[in-house]
Amino acid sequence: MTIRMGGIFGFRFDIDSEKCLRDGVPNIIRIGRKTGARFTFFASMGRAVSIPHMFMNSRTREGAGPDVKRLSALQKLGPLDFFKTAVFNPLIGARYAGILREAWEAGHEIALHGGKNHGSWAAAMPGWDRARIENEIDWAMDRLARAGIDGGITGFASPCWRDSPALYEVLRARGFKYTSNVASESEDAVSLLHNLVSVPVNICGQPGRVAYIEHKRAQDMNDPEVLADFEMNLEKHAALAVAFEHPYYAGTRESGLLEKLLQKAADSGRRAVTLREIASGSG
Ligand SMILES: [Zn+2]
Repeated sequence: MTIRMGGIFGFRFDIDSEKCLRDGVPNIIRIGRKTGARFTFFASMGRAVSIPHMFMNSRTREGAGPDVKRLSALQKLGPLDFFKTAVFNPLIGARYAGILREAWEAGHEIALHGGKNHGSWAAAMPGWDRARIENEIDWAMDRLARAGIDGGITGFASPCWRDSPALYEVLRARGFKYTSNVASESEDAVSLLHNLVSVPVNICGQPGRVAYIEHKRAQDMNDPEVLADFEMNLEKHAALAVAFEHPYYAGTRESGLLEKLLQKAADSGRRAVTLREIASGSG
């Protein structure tokens, strides 16, 4: 029905912290309005960090080696917000429910990103049993319902790409239709993963499956260089292109560049649709 010169294009934002939702998402809603893009926001309803797991995370990062080009949370958030996140550690989606609802009402998709705590999920979820995962997801779905978003939640993306067979069992039992737990440049199509539709991310920073703009900036690329690289990625993933970012970065200091990327995509006939639409084949 639509005239599309390019293929299917999705842009996903993972809401990991208070700054993501409070400062980043309102700008992204505005950019969506300007460019006609519809996004998927994977929302953390619980807390951002787990203090006991922070030490473990820093060990993991060191273990990843110097090749992983990423900015640290401290670099991205700045000292004040990093300190506030670590000390106050609020319930993210629950506290700023109005902004989530505003995104939802503007036609963007709200999907789920973990459970009660992004940090503990990232560090420990693969070891959790089914009852623990059910408890986490039911808690988060209840928070979404209380935020006034009680329909159309069909997608799930796991914090830091963690998964386990038990996670997919719970997601199927709870009526989820798709996951986005795979990030690889060689994935160019929707597939099935543990009997759920899998929408891959194929525009991100590698190695380490990190957010796209963050990765390019860590490589010291300027705006024209990132734009050219993005265009090359859209061409490379002609049938299906899915990019990934965090609102606290791409929606704040990089919102100008984000808008340029989306405008460039729209100019070549690629208007971002939600991952739910891609999963259901209507993208
Ligand atoms: Zn995340």
